[in-house]
Formats: sequence, structure tokens, C-alpha cells
Amino acid sequence: MTPRRIINAYGTNTRLSGGMMAPEVVAAMAAAAQACFEMPDVQAAASRAISEATGAQAGIVTAGAAAALMLGAAACMARLDPAAMNRLPDTDGLPNEFIVSRSQRNMYDRALRVAGGRIVEVGIPDRLSGPGVRDASAGEIADAITPRTAAVFHLAGTDAEPSLPDLVRVAHARGVPVLVDAAAQLPPAENLRRFIDQGADLVCFSGGKAIGGPQASGILAGRAELVSSALAQMLDLDLPEAQFVAPPEFAALNQLRFLPHHGIGRVAKVGKEEVAGLVAALRRFAAEDPAARSARWTARLAALDVPGAVLVPDGAKPGLPLLELRFADRAAAERAEAALRARDPAVHVDASRIRRGVLAVNPIALDDADLPLLAEALRDVV
Ligand SMILES: *Cc1c(COP(=O)(O)O)cnc(C)c1O
Repeated sequence: MTPRRIINAYGTNTRLSGGMMAPEVVAAMAAAAQACFEMPDVQAAASRAISEATGAQAGIVTAGAAAALMLGAAACMARLDPAAMNRLPDTDGLPNEFIVSRSQRNMYDRALRVAGGRIVEVGIPDRLSGPGVRDASAGEIADAITPRTAAVFHLAGTDAEPSLPDLVRVAHARGVPVLVDAAAQLPPAENLRRFIDQGADLVCFSGGKAIGGPQASGILAGRAELVSSALAQMLDLDLPEAQFVAPPEFAALNQLRFLPHHGIGRVAKVGKEEVAGLVAALRRFAAEDPAARSARWTARLAALDVPGAVLVPDGAKPGLPLLELRFADRAAAERAEAALRARDPAVHVDASRIRRGVLAVNPIALDDADLPLLAEALRDVV
């Protein structure tokens, strides 16, 4: 079976198979595939790399940011109680509520519910209605915290309200952790550390977006005790209990009263290949000078040389340039977008602003070898 190849000028969208991996990332995956390890050891090595890149106490590689959210939610509910781990997604008797500003609800937060969580919405986002200025205030979030609260949930983003530092202040005052979905918050690379620096207890990133890791990889980073709980709910711990000694990165697991069975994370298990690939990609992403990365992406777009196209910074992602094609109206942009997809190979461009008549070329998932073909396709539609 050979699927039809496309030219991906949209970005690292899951439905377009994410981006592409650097040869050293592919090599790391191939090497991992040709050896065996104990999985806690594999994740301990990943934890050291994630700590170095994020400043977090610990980290694990997950099967995507959505899996990291599910495991993070499971950790906030079960903590280090193996009986609770065994029960999830049944949460009888456990704190299972995740408090979120209503404006931050999104379809990825299903992952919290998959773990057994219940989402409690707070605030009226009338900031989005035009005349309004309010969203949810930190005070309203604080007021919603009860003994049933498992965590405060935050979708990171430039316009997210309340701010993460404000959320952390009210949540920690009541002894509740803050779980952050930062799946697509890279670049800028400094965001690897930002949310942890601001006091988040758990942060989720996608491995298959700008980091350039395997498409089905992600990161859960944060407080060692919570990350350890998440790991226990993904690992296969089906071994004689006396044999299990947690690596120092996950020492909290040595306190478990007994070993839990296959946990909720078993449905999103991660392989050694994904772990090795993610770690190689993360090291590469963190080591590259952001200005050099930005220049590399800009050069790719500049090489396209399309009449009338405008190079602009992505408003939400500092350091990411986009090449905008501006059409007379939405209908004209829709015709161009359809014509691009009808080509062989099909060309997919960023259509998120098609309502305003704008199509954009995102450089992240482009293959340099495709630039001449892409330039020709774009010139045909402008
Ligand atoms: C992409 C994304 C996810 C899911 O990430 P995966 O790594 O594909 O599982 C979750 N939340 C947000 C906001 C995202 O953009």
C-alpha cells in the first residue's frame, strides 16, 4: 500500500500526518527499534532530557499531547493511590472535577473526561461578544474550587484569561494543581520553560508539531510526584512486586502500597521508538538558535517567489513566518484552495483564515525538494 503523497503547506496538522522528522530523529528511532530495554529505564532517560529542556522536575513521553492530557488528568485524580489508579475511569469517591474558564473549552479537553474527569466551566466569555470585556476572573475560579476539585485546567494561548500566574496563585492557595494544555505553543522555544516557570504543576506538549518528533508522540512534564503517577498508569507493571524498583526520576513510585494493574494509559501506550525519537527531536529543537530556525523557515518561504504574496509573522507564534496569499473575497480563496488540492500531488495550504479571503503557506512541514512544484502551484492560482 502506498498512500498518495501530498505537499503539506498547512502545518503540522494531525489529519495531514504532522510534519517530517530530521534524519537524526529517524536514526534514533531505528536504533531503539533494534534493541530491548526496561521501559521504566527508557522513560527515565526521557525524563532527564525533558527536565533539561523544560526545567520541570520530571517528564515522560506520551502517545501525543492528548494522551498527556488524559494521563495528567488521571494523575491529578489518583495521585499515588494504586487502588484509585485501578478504578479509573470510575471516579467514585475521588476528586474528579477540572475547573476551566468557559472560553477555553475545546474538543481536546475530551481527554480529561476519558480519564473519568468532569469539566466544570466558570465565567462568561463576553469579551468575545463585542461590548464585553470580561472572560473568567481568577476570583471566580477560586470560588469554584471544592474538595471535589482534581485540578484547575488551562489552555495556554496568548489571549488566555485568567493568566496562568493568576490561576496558579488561586489554585495553590487551595492546594490544587494546575494542568496546562500547551500542545501547540511552540515556537517560541522559550515556552518549553515558560509554563513550568509560571508555576504549572503539569504541562502537555505535542511531539509531532514544531518539536519535529514522531507524529504520535507528546510530553507530560511537571512535578515529579504527578508525573510518576501518570507513568504508573501507562506502564505495564505486570511483574512480581518485589522486582519493581522505580528509577530515581520516578522515586515516588516506591511509595505505592502495591503495584497497580494496566492503567487508563494502557490505551495510549508509547513505544521505545517514539520515546527515542521524541528525545532526539527535543534536543535538536532546544539546541537550535531560534533566530536561525526562523531564518531557515523564512528562506524557505522567500524561495517561493510568488507575485503578490506577503511574508508576515504568525500572530500567535513568535518566530514563525507565514506567506499569505490575499484574494478578493472568500469565494475566490475557496476556488484557489480547491484548485491546489486538486493537483497531483495535492497541495494543502493553511485555510484557517479563508473567511477573510486569506490562504497561507506554513513552512514547518514543507520538504525543500517540493519548493519548485509548490511555487508553480501557487503561481497558477494567484
Ligand atoms: C494538537 C493539539 C492537541 C493534541 O495534540 P496531539 O499531540 O496531536 O495529541 C491538544 N490540544 C491542543 C490545543 C492542540 O493544538
